[in-house]
Amino acid sequence: MLAGQLETALGEIREGLAMLADMGRWRILRAAGLRAVDELHQRGWTQEAEEVAAWLNATLAGAPVEADSTLQPAPSARPALLPTHCPQCGGALHSDEVEWIDSRTAECGYCGSPVRAA
Ligand SMILES: [Zn+2]
Repeated sequence: MLAGQLETALGEIREGLAMLADMGRWRILRAAGLRAVDELHQRGWTQEAEEVAAWLNATLAGAPVEADSTLQPAPSARPALLPTHCPQCGGALHSDEVEWIDSRTAECGYCGSPVRAA
């Protein structure tokens, strides 16, 4: 049970951090990575925390210095365009207020349906 939770949590952490690295969001990656390492430590998953920390260090070492403060964001890093209303429940959607599941899918705050962006 615990091992299953750990696998799931680690998978989500790695996927999320890898996505930030792909998008070149280094400062956000650093902050999110450190938070994830901290959380793993708090749960007593020391070895996993160290693995994530090592991956984070290696990835950030290869990052361009302050890339996202000097360069324009890549087009793929911009928020995707959501439909104005949820197709399931008709609730109004705001791209900066919804919960993003991945870079193209948001979760409706009213009914929880995944909504695919344009
Ligand atoms: Zn909805």
